[in-house]
Amino acid sequence: MQIIWSSKEMQDTAEQLRSGGKRIGVVPTMGFLHQGHLSLIGLARRESDVVVTTIFVNPAQFGEGEDFERYPRNFDRDRELAEGAGTDILFAPDAMEMYPEGHATFVNVEGVSTTLEGAFRPGHFMGVATIVLKLLNITKPHVAVFGQKDAQQVFVVQKMVTDLNLDVRIHVAPIVREEDGLALSSRNVYLQPDERPRATALYRSLRHAETQIHDGERSVVKLKKEMFDIIAQAGPVQVDYIAFLEPSRFRETASVEPPSLLITLAARYGTTRLIDNILIPVS
Ligand code: AMP
Repeated sequence: MQIIWSSKEMQDTAEQLRSGGKRIGVVPTMGFLHQGHLSLIGLARRESDVVVTTIFVNPAQFGEGEDFERYPRNFDRDRELAEGAGTDILFAPDAMEMYPEGHATFVNVEGVSTTLEGAFRPGHFMGVATIVLKLLNITKPHVAVFGQKDAQQVFVVQKMVTDLNLDVRIHVAPIVREEDGLALSSRNVYLQPDERPRATALYRSLRHAETQIHDGERSVVKLKKEMFDIIAQAGPVQVDYIAFLEPSRFRETASVEPPSLLITLAARYGTTRLIDNILIPVS
């Protein structure tokens, strides 16, 4: 596995690969890799000749008072995991490489960037869209793999790709979970021993809604209340939101309509903020 720190070197390498007829797949990450990230690398492996994994903890997508400084980092471990999962090139720039003095251009995907995660984390999606566009321009991939775990991020990225005519295919990978249902996240290491079991209520609540909808329940108000109760009954928690969305528009809906429904949620256990979601077919 080759490690590249410089954007220019990465761009030149990508250009050479493309002129040699190679298909490039990229997996953007913030590092502290887990099985969720590795599944994305595996998917990229199957769809391309050369897999580029990027590791960059992007300051622009963290708000003031968020966890940028304490975000977990372990480059040596990441390097081994990325290579083991099939990465050919690890692109790991530092902040000065991505945002040199005077950097002044940001990408804003209007509308969707200010709801839900965007409402709780103002500026977050501008940081995401900007870094994703930069990483796409630097790694020149044919396919870029993102996780359904960050459902709103996927929507923002897909919208940017469409609106800005970017010549890349976005592949969305399913959520990888612990055995007890907790979605894998680099932030799970923040959970205190008493919070960790409580956090399993998030996925339980999503599965409850899924079962109820499958059995014919159509009341969004009732389902939201039941989900909230499941999460609250597990112990102290701050639920930021539980949202029922039309997946194709990422708009909140007051009714459960075919062909599918996306339920997203965010909750805080102490200082740890977790997100999760489920896509439910509706007939
Ligand atoms: P992050 O390092 O948290 O920015 O995540 C990098 C990529 O991995 C994003 O596309 C995430 O959606 C994806 N990802 C994070 N957690 C999971 C998971 N549990 N299952 C699948 N993909 C994930």
